[in-house]
Amino acid sequence: MKQYLLLPLFLCVMIIMDCGKGAKPAALPVLFRGDGVFSQWDGIFSYRVGRIEVYILVDDSTNVFLLKADGKNILIDTGLGVRLFQKLEKLDVAADQVDTVLLTHLHGHHIGGLQKDGTTLFPNAVIYLAALEHRFFTETNVNAGAVAALAPYGDKVVTFEPAELGGTLNAIVPGIFPIANYGHTPGHTVFLVEDSDDKLIIGGDFLHVPQILDYAAANNIPIGGMHFRYPGIGTVAQNSETYVFNLYAVDSAEQIDTLFARQGALSP
Ligand SMILES: [Zn+2]
Ligand SMILES: [Zn+2]
Repeated sequence: MKQYLLLPLFLCVMIIMDCGKGAKPAALPVLFRGDGVFSQWDGIFSYRVGRIEVYILVDDSTNVFLLKADGKNILIDTGLGVRLFQKLEKLDVAADQVDTVLLTHLHGHHIGGLQKDGTTLFPNAVIYLAALEHRFFTETNVNAGAVAALAPYGDKVVTFEPAELGGTLNAIVPGIFPIANYGHTPGHTVFLVEDSDDKLIIGGDFLHVPQILDYAAANNIPIGGMHFRYPGIGTVAQNSETYVFNLYAVDSAEQIDTLFARQGALSP
């Protein structure tokens, strides 16, 4: 028997289909699930891409990804910044131990943890984002909050040119490659994490431009997203009408399939 739940996200609606029990993948142990209270939107989950440790910090409706690679602490986005620091503390990562912050784009709920009252919250981090994204938001000033979030970092804001999908990849830090996924915002970027033949694509609000989903499905690459229901990571497949997003199961939770309509319904 199938149950359908509507799950509102910031800019899209996904339809969750409960399709029965599934086994917990051995690679995805649960570290925390809130404070003993089952919560859809709270938790820390771990994953591994080769030697790269990936932690998914679920914070309200926006996830943050922490990657540990070559002794470095790398964040992808900073979410709302509400419980981010509490979760980093649980992982014994102090804010001044974050070396790198990679940004998918400059919407407020992805950069909320960058600064407070004009002071950096990651004082030793270098902030990376796509040149086009930086240029659009700083030159148009369409979102003063985005400019303010970057300002305290000064020349520690570094821009890059992400590769075209299927093009030659260039790593920002070893094993992490930006890929252009422009559309949701002018410079929206996803990051391919790759090590030892393992791969994972991490994106922000990338459902609006589904070519990356075609790529992930065709190449059998798991995807992680900032607004995916916990644990925030899974695989995607497609049929003629829909993409089927198969969230990894956690603990003894049921395997959840998420269906969402293709391109037309995804456009903002
Ligand atoms: Zn966005
Ligand atoms: Zn978003």
